[in-house]
Amino acid sequence: MDLYLKPWIIVALILELNMPTNIRKHNWQLENTYASLPAVFFSLQQPVPVAKPEIVCFNERLANDLGLGFLNHEKENSVAYFSGNRIPDGAEPLAQAYAGHQFGYFTMLGDGRAILLGEQLDPTGKRFDVQLKGSGQTPYSRRGDGRATLYSMLREYLISEAMHHLGVPTTRSLSVVSTGEQVFREETHNGAVLTRTADSHIRVGTFEYARNFCSIEDLQALTTYTLQRHYPELTDTDDPALALLKAVMHKQIDLVVNWLRVGFIHGVMNTDNMSIAGETIDYGPCAFMNAYNPRTVFSSIDANGRYAFGNQSNVAHWNLAIFAGALLPIISENQKKAIDLAQEVLEGFQHRFTEKWYAMMFGKLGILHPEDQDKDLVDELLSLMETKKADYTQVFLALQQDKAPEGSLFELEEFKGWVKKWKNTHPGGDHKAQSLALMNTLNPKVIPRNHWVENVLEAAVEGNLAPFNQLLGTLSKPYDTHPDALQFEQIPEGFDVRYQTFCGT
Ligand code: AMP
Ligand code: MG
Repeated sequence: MDLYLKPWIIVALILELNMPTNIRKHNWQLENTYASLPAVFFSLQQPVPVAKPEIVCFNERLANDLGLGFLNHEKENSVAYFSGNRIPDGAEPLAQAYAGHQFGYFTMLGDGRAILLGEQLDPTGKRFDVQLKGSGQTPYSRRGDGRATLYSMLREYLISEAMHHLGVPTTRSLSVVSTGEQVFREETHNGAVLTRTADSHIRVGTFEYARNFCSIEDLQALTTYTLQRHYPELTDTDDPALALLKAVMHKQIDLVVNWLRVGFIHGVMNTDNMSIAGETIDYGPCAFMNAYNPRTVFSSIDANGRYAFGNQSNVAHWNLAIFAGALLPIISENQKKAIDLAQEVLEGFQHRFTEKWYAMMFGKLGILHPEDQDKDLVDELLSLMETKKADYTQVFLALQQDKAPEGSLFELEEFKGWVKKWKNTHPGGDHKAQSLALMNTLNPKVIPRNHWVENVLEAAVEGNLAPFNQLLGTLSKPYDTHPDALQFEQIPEGFDVRYQTFCGT
């Protein structure tokens, strides 16, 4: 059959060629604005090729959204791109320089095992960083091997996608490619490369790097770039650097409130892991809380509970003070004045956080028109939940569904009294439906429970991806009922007591 004679093919080709390049379907739309920053901010660096790459997961929906849907049908190209073995057209691969406070101590860091390929423009023109993680050594690797394990890259893929579908701002995962190479972490593991997308990878630590190791002009260039990229509406304000501090603070407050809504513990909120765009970034030792306890910590290295569930707002505030410190020279030339201005912004943190947190908790309880005394209702509930070690996710679901599952909390007279009080604040009639609808958008039915995450990952690294894919599928609709996957809602019996998570695997 002679394809060239088919008129519709000719028409399709003409249409395609006449399209502006940014909406042409079959290619990357990469830009590299980060590379226009002063050279101190990055090192041009190619990914180190891997021996035998194979796709383990590929996020077709995300690829479509990014304008990379053509790759859904080009497996060989995808394997090559997302292993780092081939560089897409228009990419200018680089490793970013940054510093950071890790557990309170300042240190120089940088992308030690990640490469930014460039910024993909989606079909609407929105810009996303496309970064390979686990793609080999860079000038910032220090003593690290630049690689990542399949286990931890699949973990990031699963949890970041779950967070996205829970409605929490986050970096996302486009693919995991196994490398066919071994990685050594006390024992031998299979290696992998994760492709992560993000609004950007600019961190509080990027500003600390500029402030401590670069010139004021460099710090100014980074600030201007960040404002233009993430907060263009602030570029013309009286004091753009101060406006940036405030905007980032607001984003962080919203982010932490969202974490607290779903029971997420980041686990390593170092300043290098705090995104200026307000996304959850760096899924190392993160985990989800089951039994409610604000002191919950799973990270093996967080002995003092610095990054415990209930301490996350305090840490965000601390990190923002570091951010403010980095911005001081460009907030005002007069340092005394700069400190006063920054201080005033930071002093607004606690009030705003508390109000936003209560508003979120009222939503979880379906309270449409809260009054001040409803704050006591929230406090009393949490205190009862803590005493009875009640499951955070299940309690709100039980209230929403008007059920009393087994468990000591629901048998407690004090709790029954609390429920009565709560129902009195609950409006009847038409409002009831509205209130339930609100609860349904804020109270997930399924979260990535630690025991299930580990269970499906263990099977996945042994080559059985079916449970991983089933959990991933369920987590892509966390507010729906999944009658055929009820096991994922199960509370682990005693699992959390010995559960530990780890950094940098
Ligand atoms: P993270 O704990 O993932 O936020 O990483 C902290 C720092 O350690 C970053 O600068 C990473 O790039 C670096 N890093 C973590 N693992 C490795 C590795 N295997 N090789 C090189 N650098 C690494
Ligand atoms: Mg990090």
